[in-house]
Order: sequence, then C-alpha cells, then structure tokens
Amino acid sequence: MGQRIEGRCLCGGVTFAATPEKMEMGVCHCGMCRRWTGGTFMAVSCGESVEFAPWSPTGSYRGSAWAERIFCRQCGSTLVWQTQDGKHQTVSVQTFDDPTVFKFTSQIFIDRKPDNYEFANETRNMTEAEIFEMFAPKPEGRKNA
Ligand SMILES: [Zn+2]
Ligand SMILES: [Zn+2]
Repeated sequence: MGQRIEGRCLCGGVTFAATPEKMEMGVCHCGMCRRWTGGTFMAVSCGESVEFAPWSPTGSYRGSAWAERIFCRQCGSTLVWQTQDGKHQTVSVQTFDDPTVFKFTSQIFIDRKPDNYEFANETRNMTEAEIFEMFAPKPEGRKNA
C-alpha cells in the first residue's frame, strides 16, 4: 500500500483522501469513460480507501449494473469510478496535485480505443473481454463498463 494522499475537484468543493494500491495509473478507453471525462479516464486503483470530506457536493451516476461514477455536483469534475459495492475504487489521477508520481502502466478496453489517437507509453493492454473476466458479476453487466 502507498501513502495516503489528498485529491480535489476543479472548484475545490470536493476534497478527499485515498490510499493508492500502487503508484501506478491505468487508462480506460471505453466509450462511457471517454464520454464521462471528455478524454480518456486516467485512474489510480485505491481499493476501498476513498474518504470524502464531510459535505462534499458529490453526485453519483450508476451507468451500468455494476459500476458507479462519482463527480462534483458544482463543477462537474470526474472523480471516482467504483463498483457499486464500493470495494473497488479508481480515482482520477488528475484530482491529485502531482499526477507525475504515478507510472503509466496499463490500458484497458484497448479494443474500444478509437483509431484517431494512441499513447506511446509501453503498457500492459487489456481488452473488454479480459476486463469483464476480472471484475463483472456474472452473467449480467456484460454490456457496458
Ligand atoms: Zn467541484
Ligand atoms: Zn471505461
């Protein structure tokens, strides 16, 4: 386990602390993450360690049977993707003051990446099918991340 670090949204209304499992970030290329973030979702796995400050104006969107997306209701910042049981939380790397402390190690839903961009980093890449094998409750929830 890494150390406890703090993150915040664009307007500062939401602040939180989380403990990264590793000092690594992964990118998700799925269509839902791209639409949600306006880019790709660059995220750090934090187990179930995310703790929001009291009265943080968070909203949540349950975009699929198994996942939930947490954002700031005031400024719209992308904050946390998590399974609905809260056991697997991934935090937007851009909420942290220094995203450079995380090594870019993986890309998921690589088969959903549009052909008009590509990252040059050497990473471990996984397809949609490989990810659902790892996380999705079976048999439902296979349509969207
Ligand atoms: Zn905000
Ligand atoms: Zn995604």
